[in-house]
Amino acid sequence: MMVLRRAAVKMSAGYEAMPRTRLGSDARLCKTSGPVFAPDGFTQLIELRHVGKTYQTATGAFQALRDIDLDIRRGEVFGIIGRSGAGKSTLLRLLNLLERPTQGAVRIEGQDITQLDAPGLRKLRQHIGMVFQHFNLLSSRTVYENVRFPLRVAGELSRSEQQARVMEVLQLVGLTDQARKYPRQLSGGQRQRVGVARALANRPNLLLCDEATSALDPETTQSILRLLLEINRTLRITVVLITHGMDVIRAVADRVAILDHGRLVELGDVIDVFLNPQAETTRALLAESGVETESWHGSVGESGRVLRLTYKGEAVALPVLSRYGRELGLDFSILQGSVGRIKDMPYGQLTISVAQEDDARVAQLLAALTGHGIHHQVLR
Ligand code: ADP
Repeated sequence: MMVLRRAAVKMSAGYEAMPRTRLGSDARLCKTSGPVFAPDGFTQLIELRHVGKTYQTATGAFQALRDIDLDIRRGEVFGIIGRSGAGKSTLLRLLNLLERPTQGAVRIEGQDITQLDAPGLRKLRQHIGMVFQHFNLLSSRTVYENVRFPLRVAGELSRSEQQARVMEVLQLVGLTDQARKYPRQLSGGQRQRVGVARALANRPNLLLCDEATSALDPETTQSILRLLLEINRTLRITVVLITHGMDVIRAVADRVAILDHGRLVELGDVIDVFLNPQAETTRALLAESGVETESWHGSVGESGRVLRLTYKGEAVALPVLSRYGRELGLDFSILQGSVGRIKDMPYGQLTISVAQEDDARVAQLLAALTGHGIHHQVLR
């Protein structure tokens, strides 16, 4: 199961000392009985099938989500992006049943969570951490008490065990020296670190982040994003985050879902979505965040081919274009080019025009590029 596949974790002694076999199955953490998760063998952590959500409002039924089908993989950072009102919060809240779907199934490790009884649901929620945009800290309690709160609610650790766990997660987020302070005495970034520590207290395997950086300045946003990434990588916790900012997606997410008016309009690896957006909404969101998605404006001569080549990962370093161009006797000029990095992945994108009209040789060139993992689109 999910946690069995984890490597030993160095970041936190508690995680090392207490390897768990499945979400919520550690006897010291979960005294309630009943199966929450199915046996080994699921490659997906979360599956949504034909999920819909209809709210009943004073003016009638409102469908906030329609026919959502998606899988979230173990260990990934999964981003959900869309404009205000697109249905992001509703979708996130379906994952811990703060909202119940009105259509379809939400399965975690193969089990339809809408079928859980009250103890099962409590156990599920205990092992899903949530981080909020406005931190949601108790203002009259110290940092220490805020982080201890979910441990008290769970009621499964002794007082000294709770204390050890609180200090452990405060260390994880870099706030050991702030334990006795009150939220009002902290900066926004520190408050969010408390929010993250609280979300980690019960050793979740899934962390839901609801616009976790939207209330923070750009620098603090970066530090919180780095923290989330570190948590994902070191503790191997699956992270699902919602945001309206492509920058957040670009910095931390592995895959992304784009929502528009309650519909899933695009889903894919972040790098592919950035480099080859398919949906109009995606292109608009990218354009608003300053990402150029139109690499060619049709302003070259009448003849020849125009190709867009996308390189990523190791292909970035290969001199294949010049080599095959030379071998095939094809001349080309570069119309546009960009290089960069999305999360950890270096990429390059080139738009070139090939002067010759010889389609057979162009086809040979494209086949050679494909053989080296270079994606192409024929723009003209
Ligand atoms: P987002 O997070 O993308 O801004 P939400 O999921 O919060 O979007 O909301 C999606 C739509 O559902 C919005 O039009 C919102 O007004 C509506 N909505 C959200 N919660 C409720 C509710 N409890 N009752 C009625 N309508 C709601």
